[in-house]
Amino acid sequence: MSLPRFYPWHEETARAWLGEEQRRRFAHAWLIHGLAGIGKVEFARAAAAGLLCESPQDGMACGQCPACTWYASGNHPDFRRVRPEAVALAEGQAEEGDAEEEAVDADGKKAGKRAPSREIRIEQIRALESWANTGTHRGGLRVVVLYPAETLNTISANGLLKILEEPPPQTVFLLVSDAPDRLLPTLVSRCRRLPLGTPAPEPALAWLQEQGVQDAAAQLAAAGGAPVAAWRRAEAGVPPRAPWLDTFVTALAQGKPPDLGQIVDALDKIPAAEWIDALQRLAIDVALAQAGMGARYFPDLASQSAKIGERAERGRVAELSRWLTRQRRIADHPLNARLFAQDVLAQASAACLGRRPKRA
Ligand SMILES: [Zn+2]
Repeated sequence: MSLPRFYPWHEETARAWLGEEQRRRFAHAWLIHGLAGIGKVEFARAAAAGLLCESPQDGMACGQCPACTWYASGNHPDFRRVRPEAVALAEGQAEEGDAEEEAVDADGKKAGKRAPSREIRIEQIRALESWANTGTHRGGLRVVVLYPAETLNTISANGLLKILEEPPPQTVFLLVSDAPDRLLPTLVSRCRRLPLGTPAPEPALAWLQEQGVQDAAAQLAAAGGAPVAAWRRAEAGVPPRAPWLDTFVTALAQGKPPDLGQIVDALDKIPAAEWIDALQRLAIDVALAQAGMGARYFPDLASQSAKIGERAERGRVAELSRWLTRQRRIADHPLNARLFAQDVLAQASAACLGRRPKRA
């Protein structure tokens, strides 16, 4: 186990934020938000290490003191990580032997056969309450890292709100979210915001190359400039541009309806959220081309998205983008995955070709 560290593109922000000046008036609840896949959770975890460290240097964890040693081994008694069971399980596979899992999710693990929850449950918030009402073990701060905050359901969000309304002493809550607009507004109003911007391409590319990612520039573009997301795609063997997208775009650029049956077959093995993301990014590239701007996500398909942009109505491309956002939300549980894919592709294709869609 090792101490979580800030990604290079976050170090400057972290130093300014955790520096001594700031710390004297450090808020008790923060909402750390920004684009998915830029490393916000790692930021919060590294920040927690810095806050718990007993001899921080420049606000950063020293890596040597007892607090750092405990934190690194997942055993710091004044630290809690709160996330849905499904997230803990997915992460547990990535970080095998993480001792913290047991401490935080003991009741979740015992739950047995039901499907792992995708929400942060009220029981997890109640457990925090009793923990926060005992003295700190090390006489310093207590830190909670909670993510993704948008997975708090109404009950657990209200439970957390109650805690934040009468904040326990010496406790810092770091909430992490990709979508702060989906949070309970009263909860957001209890937090100071720390927006994390999309990193500049240079440090992101340098880091991806250090990780040995092939096609780093194309992967970074396909991930919308989010380096951690780009790295995960590369690790999972996802090409920067899926072959099905090429088929789809090539036909549309020629003004022909794509062979949807063939594409639906290809989508069978891809999570719906992923291919909807790709369509959404394509819609953005088309809209950018219509505005006379270069492609942001698929630079290699720039000439095709420009051709599509010439044919499609601007209003319909914008509407397609909004519609795809709604489809993304229900993508995890469509009634019939193939019909769903067929319908989404037909809508996208009709919008790009300037035709009325045929319902599947
Ligand atoms: Zn330390």
